[in-house]
Amino acid sequence: MNTRKQAQHKSAPVLQVQNLFKHYTGKNGNRLIAVNDVSFSIDKGEVLGIVGESGCGKSTLGRTVLRLVEATSGKIAYSGQDLATLKGAELKTLRKDAQIVFQDPFGALNPQHTVSRVIAEPLLVHKLGNRKQRLSRVAELLELVGMPTDAGKKYPHEFSGGQRQRIAIARALASKPTFLVCDEAVSALDVSVQSQILNLLMDLRQQLNLAMMFISHDLSVIRHISDRVAVMYLGKFVECAETEQLMNNPMHPYTQALLSAVPHPLAKQQSRIILHGEQPDALNPPTGCVFHTRCHKRNETIDSQCVATVPALQKYTDGHQVACHLHVQSTEQFDL
Ligand code: ADP
Repeated sequence: MNTRKQAQHKSAPVLQVQNLFKHYTGKNGNRLIAVNDVSFSIDKGEVLGIVGESGCGKSTLGRTVLRLVEATSGKIAYSGQDLATLKGAELKTLRKDAQIVFQDPFGALNPQHTVSRVIAEPLLVHKLGNRKQRLSRVAELLELVGMPTDAGKKYPHEFSGGQRQRIAIARALASKPTFLVCDEAVSALDVSVQSQILNLLMDLRQQLNLAMMFISHDLSVIRHISDRVAVMYLGKFVECAETEQLMNNPMHPYTQALLSAVPHPLAKQQSRIILHGEQPDALNPPTGCVFHTRCHKRNETIDSQCVATVPALQKYTDGHQVACHLHVQSTEQFDL
C-alpha cells in the first residue's frame, strides 16, 4: 500500500456502500437486478476503478451512489452520513460535493449556452458567489483544465471532443466537489486524446485531493488512474484489489480473461483467454456463480458448486477480495 493511502486510511471514507441493490423492471415485467449486493468504500483522494463489460451495471452503480437513480435497498453514506436520510439543504450540499462526468460531453453540455455559462451552472444552482466571483471562478477553472480563458465566450460546438470533455470536467469541479464519478469519461475520445484527459484527471486528483469512482469497460484505461479496481460482472463485484495486485495476480477467471486482452509490462504474461458466448441476459441470470456459463476454470470437482451456490466476495489476502469457489481460503466476508 502506498504512503498516500496509509495516511488516508485514518479518516472516514468519503463514500461507503453496503449491500446495494438496484432492480429495474425489464421486458414482460420481469425483475432485472442491475446492481446485486455490492459493498465497497472509497477513501478521501482515492480512485476506485469499476471495470466490466457493457451492461454489467457500472453506470447504474455510479448513478445510484449519487442518488440520480434511487437504490432498491442497501446503504450509501458520505463521510459517515446516510444518504437516505438527507433531505432539502443537506441533499443539496451532497449534490455540490459529489459530481459526475459523463461519456458524451456534447450531449451533457447545453449547446445554447456559452462555455462560461455551462461551467458556471453548478455555481448558479448552488448560489455560490456573485457574478464577478463566478466569472473569476470560471476563468480559474478554464485554466485548471488547460483551456484558454477566451474559450468562455464561445459555444460547446466550437470545440473538439477532448476540449468539450475538459469543459465538462471544469463544470463538474466548479462547486469544489470532494467526490467525482467519471462514467466512461474518456471512452468516446481518440486514444491520444484519451491519455491527455486521463493525465488531466490524474493531475486534478492530486491537486484537489479528489476521490473518484472511475467507470470504464476498458481495463487498460482503468489501470492508469485507479488505486484499486473492482471488477463487475452481471451486477456483482467478482474481484476487488489494489491495481498492481490485480494486474500481477488476477484471481477471478473473469478478471484473468479481461487482463489477457490488455498488454501490460507488469501483468503476468499469459495467452489470450477468449470468453465464449455473450454476457448472459440480465433478466435471466445464471444460477450460482453468475460467471459459470462462460468460465474457463470450471472443473468437475467444483462444478456443482459453481452452478448451485453464489460465491461470496471474500478476503483472499489483505486488500484483495474475490468471489470464486476456486479461491475459498477463509470464511471472512468482505469487510468495509
Ligand atoms: P453498464 O454501465 O455496465 O453498461 P448499465 O448500468 O447501463 O450497465 O445497465 C445494467 C443493466 O441494467 C443492463 O441490463 C441494462 O439494460 C439495465 N438498465 C439500465 N438502465 C435501465 C432502465 N432505466 N430500465 C431498465 N433497465 C435498465
